Amino acid sequence: MLFTSLGLSEPILKAITETGYTQPTPIQAKAIPLVLEGKDVLAAAQTGTGKTAGFTLPLLERMVQNHKPIGTHKGQPKRHIRALILTPTRELAAQIAENVEMYAKYLPYKSTVVFGGVNINRQINVMKQGIDILIATPGRLLDLCSQKVVDLSKVEILVLDEADRMLDMGFIHDMKKVVKLIPKNRQTLLFSATFSKEIKVLASGFQTNPNLVEVAAQNKTADRIAQLVHPVDKKKKKDLLVKLISDGQWKQVLVFTRTKHGANKLCEHLEQEGIKSAAIHGNKSQGARTKALANFKANSIRVLVATDIAARGIDIDMLPHVVNFELPNVAEDYVHRIGRTGRAGREGEAVSLVCVDENDYLRGIERLIAQKIPSIVVAGFEVDPSIVAEPINQGGGRGRRGGGGGQSRGNNNSGSRGSNNRGRSENSDKKSSNSRNRSRSRNRSTSRNNSSDS
Ligand code: AMP
Repeated sequence: MLFTSLGLSEPILKAITETGYTQPTPIQAKAIPLVLEGKDVLAAAQTGTGKTAGFTLPLLERMVQNHKPIGTHKGQPKRHIRALILTPTRELAAQIAENVEMYAKYLPYKSTVVFGGVNINRQINVMKQGIDILIATPGRLLDLCSQKVVDLSKVEILVLDEADRMLDMGFIHDMKKVVKLIPKNRQTLLFSATFSKEIKVLASGFQTNPNLVEVAAQNKTADRIAQLVHPVDKKKKKDLLVKLISDGQWKQVLVFTRTKHGANKLCEHLEQEGIKSAAIHGNKSQGARTKALANFKANSIRVLVATDIAARGIDIDMLPHVVNFELPNVAEDYVHRIGRTGRAGREGEAVSLVCVDENDYLRGIERLIAQKIPSIVVAGFEVDPSIVAEPINQGGGRGRRGGGGGQSRGNNNSGSRGSNNRGRSENSDKKSSNSRNRSRSRNRSTSRNNSSDS
């Protein structure tokens, strides 16, 4: 199938041609026709499937079809927000905004992105000039709404991107508040990595007779990603990583740690070894994160060390290597992590360095993906059998879900409420994202200007 057969108009096809893409990915081929028919769509598609274009292209086409004259002269209607794309993280928001800009290049629409952690005044000024398409994270959007800078009363299309992650991050109430500000007769597109029970409940509240679209079996890791485990003692992980990068002459590698502190320490070590690195995590300013990502994309740094939340949704073309320096304590995060490589049909490699403490995590992951990951001991890094597994610090003893392991075994009474309480940990260190976001929403009511870090 070619893009030209999907019923998209000339300006959009021209922009697609410039990206070099000729064929829609499976999610695009399935979702685009439904959205063009005006249907609500509930899509299960992970990052890396081409889902962003899957909603952006038909969204633009719908805006063209429901054409409303946009005036710059007196007496003509002013621009107003016709499409809202809500997404959980700043990085994802920024990437979607880039995509929208790219695909709308030959259309008369203005788009912008708003997220927390950066100065709000500039966003206010841009919003005041009039915007057709808004990409936003929930917290900052509600701030702007409460300041009457953003009016959602004329939104025609709402996209909830990575809705599962928004639930995980505690955005449920913010999402509900946002949806209440949008007319009921809108078109709603909801994208999630999986169709969990929680997502179906959410969809039933926000959508009308949605059409279901699914592209890959739930939680199935793409066949194109070669996965490998290297068993190794915890203390030797850093050296093994340096060896893998050096021997393999890896030019661009995304490395995951469980904690912010761990990310910083690893980054320092790699720098000492002469490997150019940067860390991204929740304690880094938005500016620092954007810069690190840009440098990584431009190949001026070789290693990007990231925590799960910071890395969520980052889109780097042809990322060849992902390393789990530490396994995630939530098995599903493994699937998300390795989804950063082998994107849109390209080949990739995901390597996990697993110490004895993490064996239960590994078993949980293998259960989830229903496959055994090949394990290879690297010469010189043999595991010392006398080392006994120790509990893994999960930062404040929060619950965890699914396939994890380690010290959490038999500790399932930590208030776990399914995917809303995943024991997610950018947590060397203090708060989980849920509690962080909860405290954010509390802050929002008391101190608007300090509150908008989504
Ligand atoms: P996404 O799942 O939206 O994060 O997209 C993953 C990657 O696939 C991005 O790098 C896109 O630019 C790329 N992509 C999107 N659509 C296509 C397509 N039709 N053909 C090839 N690559 C695509």
